[in-house]
Amino acid sequence: MIFNIQRFSTHDGKGIRTNIFFKGCPLRCKWCNNPESQNMQPEIFFTPSKCILCMECVKSSKNNEFYLENEKIALHRESVKTPEIFRDICPTKAIEVVGNKATVENIIEEVIKDLPFFNNSDGGVTVSGGEVFFQPELLEALTKALKKHNINISAETCLDVPWNNIKRSAQNIDVFLADLKHIDHSKFKEFTNGNLTQVLSNFIELEHLGANVIVRIPVINGFNASEHEMYSILDFAAGLSNVSEVNLLPYHSFGTGKYTLLGRIYDLHNGSVDDELINNCINYAKKIGLKANIGG
Ligand code: SF4
Repeated sequence: MIFNIQRFSTHDGKGIRTNIFFKGCPLRCKWCNNPESQNMQPEIFFTPSKCILCMECVKSSKNNEFYLENEKIALHRESVKTPEIFRDICPTKAIEVVGNKATVENIIEEVIKDLPFFNNSDGGVTVSGGEVFFQPELLEALTKALKKHNINISAETCLDVPWNNIKRSAQNIDVFLADLKHIDHSKFKEFTNGNLTQVLSNFIELEHLGANVIVRIPVINGFNASEHEMYSILDFAAGLSNVSEVNLLPYHSFGTGKYTLLGRIYDLHNGSVDDELINNCINYAKKIGLKANIGG
């Protein structure tokens, strides 16, 4: 299951890239900018302001999923069992179904359109999410197919998956863009619902493998935005022999509107951090021997 293919990206790896976004994630980070990536199943983005009352969605509703209320279209999400029936029915895209079962062949067909751009820019493909190692069969098949075309592959990952999920594709991945959100187990659990022991263990496994790892650290007020916490995270990264770079990712709230489209509530506020902290962290990272950047 994927939810987007984004061509001509210049973030998330070297050169011109095509980003493939996998749907489904083991974590529930409170600051997540892609809430549509979290569930493995297709979901509905609903934007009532785009509705022109054509009634197509009501006609397609078998269980009163979409219905007319006070001269407006309303959505009863709990009644939606098969979002697929609403794909492409809305003429104004007030309704969009997020997530589809693309095959490796479908994805490769899209990706190879940009082979000349990859070759001229040292670019390639970035697999992202969601969590790419949450779908190990799809990732293994896709990375093998990409390598047949000699395409450079970066993988964005939270590493909170069993090592076996990672191992089966690891040899095909040129760069791991791996999140290290915290090294305090209880804070990590509270803000992401994840298992930090598994994440740290996978960093060590990647070191044993000699994988090229860029460590990504989201910096979030109330979570890890203190010198004490950030320096501890950077110390862990500096202790790994295979880390080529760290990227600090200061909090932003660009994804909050998507929570509304999914009928969800965004409950992290005041996540922004001071430039001074970021600059101090960059200086500290360099002092302990890390190549460090803001963003990535
Ligand atoms: S299909 Fe789209 S435009 Fe038509 S009534 Fe439903 S939401 Fe409104």
